[in-house]
Amino acid sequence: MRRVAILGATGSIGQSALAVVAAHPGRVKVVAMAAGENTARFAEQIIEVRPERIAMASAAALAEVKAAVRARGGPDVESASGAEGLIAIATHPDADVVLFASSGTAALDAVLAAIAAGKTIAIANKEILVMAGALVMKAARERGVLVLPVDSEHNAIHQCLHGRDAAEIKRLILTASGGPFRGVSAAQLESVTPQDALRHPTWRMGQKITIDSATLMNKGLEVIEARWLFDVGPKQIDVVVHPQSVVHSMVELTDGSIIAQLGVTDMQLPIQYAFSYPKRWTAPLPPLDLVRAGRLDFEQPDTACFPCLGLAFRALEGDPGLPIVLNAANEVAVSAFLNGQIGFPTIGHLIRSGMDEYERLGSRSVQNLEDVRAIDSWARAYVAAQTPAIQSKS
Ligand code: MG
Repeated sequence: MRRVAILGATGSIGQSALAVVAAHPGRVKVVAMAAGENTARFAEQIIEVRPERIAMASAAALAEVKAAVRARGGPDVESASGAEGLIAIATHPDADVVLFASSGTAALDAVLAAIAAGKTIAIANKEILVMAGALVMKAARERGVLVLPVDSEHNAIHQCLHGRDAAEIKRLILTASGGPFRGVSAAQLESVTPQDALRHPTWRMGQKITIDSATLMNKGLEVIEARWLFDVGPKQIDVVVHPQSVVHSMVELTDGSIIAQLGVTDMQLPIQYAFSYPKRWTAPLPPLDLVRAGRLDFEQPDTACFPCLGLAFRALEGDPGLPIVLNAANEVAVSAFLNGQIGFPTIGHLIRSGMDEYERLGSRSVQNLEDVRAIDSWARAYVAAQTPAIQSKS
């Protein structure tokens, strides 16, 4: 029996994880779970899953969810809130695997705590690896802890590599769907709306990541994730646009052979892989129908129209603080775009301006989470100040 703890239970990945658990009652069990603010959904999940321990972002949300569970005759479980609550879930003594499915930076301390406690880490949270990939992977190596990627591209690469010697790897090839604006001109991008950007052609995901797919920043963040997860240099990572999202990513070996992983576009697959690893279980998903898929296209990404991908490579090749700046600037810019405060192309302009300013101020050391948080706060404040509409609102 694989016992798991889930951080981010009510989000898109968390819900898919619970579907995987429900499909394999004899094989995997949830012992602890944490959620942000969605008390209604979390209360339902607690009643259904009956974990031993729960946590929520705030004490108020926790009190509300406990009252809701009690009112429906559910169990009175051990609980905590805030940063302490996340750590209590991530280090639950009965958990073998901890799934980091929350978004944002709240789980940074919890991931290091889980590694110190010797847990297998299943990671779907991009920010953790983009901001602190070097710190997290170093801690995992020193503690001998396995880090299994749940992001579909990295999960595909993990499957393709399957213990292969690093010396045999020529490059990693991440596939990108191209998002809803593939083939759209720079002039047309000036007037696209958040609603246009939220219409993703192949994946159903949360708002922030869907906008990131539209700007190609999602792929940029994934390039940074790949660099840390697989310990390869930026020059060994390539991105190819593949609109059908059937090939989830590829690895080119030194002899020129390319190994690919193909599958249906359902996050249950990479989540189940992380729960069953190194074994394989049957999955309650429709099989991939290649004949129905018909054709698989591959294109060069348009980095002129979508500068965010290029900015991510620049961040990876530059100062170690730059990926933190990139990530923070992007979060501020995306939320300004979603609120109708800036146009779509301004997202990239704001990120570039944050990175330029950070470089102008000179290098800072990134040795621990405090350093990471300081750079993150600086970048958020700087980019917010560049966005007058945000400034007047806060
Ligand atoms: Mg992905």
